[in-house]
Amino acid sequence: MYCIKCGNKTKKTIPTGDNVFREICSACEYIHYVNPNIIVGALPVHSGSILLCKRDIEPGFGKWTLPSGFMEMGESLEDGAKREAHEEANLELNIKYLFTTYSLPRIGQVYMLYLSEIVNDDYAAMHETSEVKLFSKSQIPWDDIAFSAVTFALQNYIADSKNGISGKCHSNY
Ligand SMILES: [Zn+2]
Repeated sequence: MYCIKCGNKTKKTIPTGDNVFREICSACEYIHYVNPNIIVGALPVHSGSILLCKRDIEPGFGKWTLPSGFMEMGESLEDGAKREAHEEANLELNIKYLFTTYSLPRIGQVYMLYLSEIVNDDYAAMHETSEVKLFSKSQIPWDDIAFSAVTFALQNYIADSKNGISGKCHSNY
């Protein structure tokens, strides 16, 4: 590849004091680190029901997901969760606690999902969403969930509700 700083060719090398191969510029020695992306989002609930968004884009077109997306520079996790919920479903949320971390090491992604109380009642399908719907715990469309992280969060939410557990963060590792 070519250096993003000066345009010269890079070389795959383990930098001094590191233990991972990196692309290092042969001219300016800039090290091109590649790190996982954070996907931040919410598990929006109201009276025990869960709001899901039907995806209007690939991947997972036509399947149900939780409002979530790539974290932006300059925002906190909580701000990111609120922003995604607002952008995709016009939701206003009261964030309660970090509910799920879900690591996907193979593709370098980490989900951070916040259990959140829905504040407004004029939520609606917005950007990247064709439909929003509140599902009771017995109505979850398990066969049409877009991502494994969403299934994981929903299963844990239902189990916690059943067992009277609150405030626990669930991790897939
Ligand atoms: Zn360079």
